[in-house]
Amino acid sequence: MKNSLIVLGIAAMAMSCATPEESKIDYTTMSDAERLEAATEMARSTIMVDGHVDLPYRMKVGGFTLQREILDVSVRTDGGNFDYPRTKEGGLDAPFMSIYIPASNQAIPGASKALADSLILMTERLTETFPDKFAMAYSPADIEANFAKGIISLPMGMENGAGLEDDLANVEYFHRRGIRYITLTHGKDNLIGDASYDTTGTHGGLSDYGKQVVEEMNRVGIMVDLSHVSDNTFRDALAITKVPAIASHSSVRKFTPGFERNMSDELIQAMAKNGGVMMINFGGTFIDSAYAAGAGKVREHLVNYMVDNGLSRTDSAFQAYAAEYSAANNPFPTVERVADHIDHVVNLVGVDYVGLGSDFDGVGDSLPTGLKDVSMYPNLIAELLKRGYSKEDIEKICYKNIFRVWKAVEEYAASRK
Ligand SMILES: [Zn+2]
Repeated sequence: MKNSLIVLGIAAMAMSCATPEESKIDYTTMSDAERLEAATEMARSTIMVDGHVDLPYRMKVGGFTLQREILDVSVRTDGGNFDYPRTKEGGLDAPFMSIYIPASNQAIPGASKALADSLILMTERLTETFPDKFAMAYSPADIEANFAKGIISLPMGMENGAGLEDDLANVEYFHRRGIRYITLTHGKDNLIGDASYDTTGTHGGLSDYGKQVVEEMNRVGIMVDLSHVSDNTFRDALAITKVPAIASHSSVRKFTPGFERNMSDELIQAMAKNGGVMMINFGGTFIDSAYAAGAGKVREHLVNYMVDNGLSRTDSAFQAYAAEYSAANNPFPTVERVADHIDHVVNLVGVDYVGLGSDFDGVGDSLPTGLKDVSMYPNLIAELLKRGYSKEDIEKICYKNIFRVWKAVEEYAASRK
């Protein structure tokens, strides 16, 4: 018993990348500039996984289809929150590409799977077009190998189980196509279960088909993603899954009372007990309920100003005023608020159950000051270091927690072969 404990201890030490010298560094007493430098270095030298980036859909909305060309994100882009240069600056290594299926597709049989297939092809096309910058990744081992070569991994998660249509065989099909998590629902109840944004309560939680879907996802090795589901679906899925689950882009409901899309303390505790990980969404409405109200007021004032002065949205006089007014009445939360969410999870259940799930390219112009795009993760890391987080803690948040879950899912599936 004693020996096995020593072996476990050595294994744990070998897994950690923080050296004894590094774990002695006191980041809390550094100047802000020194701390940001340390955070930037940490971000670039540590694998960083983000649970949810909406680039594929941004490309689709932008009219980039396979018939035309993909959006060139190998260079700095004007719009959006993601491209290769900014990814490198921020130290991001493995953003999960969201294969996002709007709930409106559910009305047309076959439309959800067809869209999923086309977004997967689009993601693959990115890696084929820029092989020295992006590569597909189907496992933590793939991400580690790409990281060693300095290449950004593009693992894929399917946002909305509607992509499976009504055919259980599609779970295995999408695993073969590279999907490594499935968000069971999106905005509306689907065949699998009830969604947080929908009040219909179609199934009262997970449907019978949904239960089979979760079991099949366990069997083939796809992570169960509980972002977007209703509380009942969440509890039902946790009761059934044989392996830890994730929330790829959800924040803490305590800061957004009544917003079921975020996780209550009860659900955070249940997910931790299950060994899972919740990856914090950075979007303004997810991290601060005051944001939505503040943003609405600014919008209203600007519309009134436009009308009162006979201006249109494209007039330079209006744009100058809008920029100045928005800056002076900035409704945006700050990077500290995102750290508050991480703190809350850590205080409630510990540092082993939290990660990053920005929702970049998916939440419009609502992102916090200091966390507007993928180049800015070091600001968040610096804030966590300021609050006393260690390098080991940062590594857990950046990748070790999600890798633990992902490997458990892989191992369970392998044991069922
Ligand atoms: Zn989402």
